[in-house]
Amino acid sequence: MNCPKCSTDLAKKYYKGMIEIDSCPDCRGMWLDSLELDKLEDMAFDDDMHKGSLVHFQSKTDFPCPHCGAKMDEFQYRLYDLKLDYCSESAHGFWLDAGEDERVIAFMRQRAGDIQRKVDAESSWKQMLKEMHLFLKKRKK
Ligand SMILES: [Zn+2]
Ligand SMILES: [Zn+2]
Repeated sequence: MNCPKCSTDLAKKYYKGMIEIDSCPDCRGMWLDSLELDKLEDMAFDDDMHKGSLVHFQSKTDFPCPHCGAKMDEFQYRLYDLKLDYCSESAHGFWLDAGEDERVIAFMRQRAGDIQRKVDAESSWKQMLKEMHLFLKKRKK
């Protein structure tokens, strides 16, 4: 598989000790396919993650899905200033640019602070991945 942004061959990497992902050695972006997200299926899921819609302001990009080459769509992650790309054709997975995962974790920390509750940012990140997985599953139907 090639990087949708710079065409470099993607390399397997074990992300935060949780899941194996494909990452780009050049631009440090990462691809999370639906099989990889499948591995998160067993993880705990916090109900308040369902509040609000995951996807806002969807639009087309020129970046090809590493699996099928179809142009990916980008969407705004919740109401945060963060755009993620995903394969809208066949729900193959998600693309995160370098540092976008860290930004998600930072948002989670901020959010945890907002609601005056100690929340582990990494477990929130797992929940977010799980949420993306559910979103892909819904699209496959
Ligand atoms: Zn790249
Ligand atoms: Zn695809």
